[in-house]
Amino acid sequence: MKFYILTLFPEMIQSTLSYSILGKAQEKNIIQIECINIRDFSKNKHGQVDDYPYGGGPGMVMQAPPIFDAYNSIVSNIQKKPRVLYMSPQGKTFNQEMAFSFSKEKELIFLCGHYEGVDERIIDTIVTDEVSIGDFVLTGGELAAICIIDSIARLIPGVLGKEASFQQESFTDSLLEYPQYTRPSIFLDQPVPEILLSGHHEKIENWRRQQSLLRTMKRRPDLLEKANLSKQDWDWIKSIKES
Ligand code: SAM
Repeated sequence: MKFYILTLFPEMIQSTLSYSILGKAQEKNIIQIECINIRDFSKNKHGQVDDYPYGGGPGMVMQAPPIFDAYNSIVSNIQKKPRVLYMSPQGKTFNQEMAFSFSKEKELIFLCGHYEGVDERIIDTIVTDEVSIGDFVLTGGELAAICIIDSIARLIPGVLGKEASFQQESFTDSLLEYPQYTRPSIFLDQPVPEILLSGHHEKIENWRRQQSLLRTMKRRPDLLEKANLSKQDWDWIKSIKES
């Protein structure tokens, strides 16, 4: 899978995504990350890519032409029009389901805004998805793109060591993951739950499922409504609520 990122700060993205699992995935060529500097497409001799907003008001707006030219440089090169995700606080809030859906694409283009954002006409012309990482405002779209690329890339086969790592984790089944423990078995007088040391796989699975249900009930009851629960799960939830 190839990620193209239209940005004014390519180093910010390239350096952050070159570590750990995603760094290795790039070395192995499982994923490719290419940043395109929008400023390289400025027609202005000072490399300017923003201007005052029509109608007045604070801040600057990123101009449409350099973004459009940067986008076209990708499209003409690969002869395809991949989905274009504009990082925006006004977009649909990103979640794991969206990460799974985007991970099926062969190429994705990310557009990172800055200042007051981008000229609306570029959104109307090239953007297929406006995506937010939450109800707060960042100074630029780069950090949002990094979060989203990270979460998509780890779902691509071969990126994580074990595929099971993400098949069981939070949100995959609309449930939060059970608590995890590792050595030492006692830390500050707190022992690891005994069941995890029992070696009894079925009982451990059961305990983990119950912990997962309990966590989701307490922390994210909204998720439980979407979860695929068995009769056994519901019986257990009922027994907990009654106790
Ligand atoms: N004036 C815009 C508004 O009120 O909606 C906010 C612009 S923000 C200061 C600059 C850029 O940061 C945006 O164009 C967008 O790319 C990025 N950004 C800010 N908050 C974001 C969020 N929650 N999710 C994704 N991108 C965000």
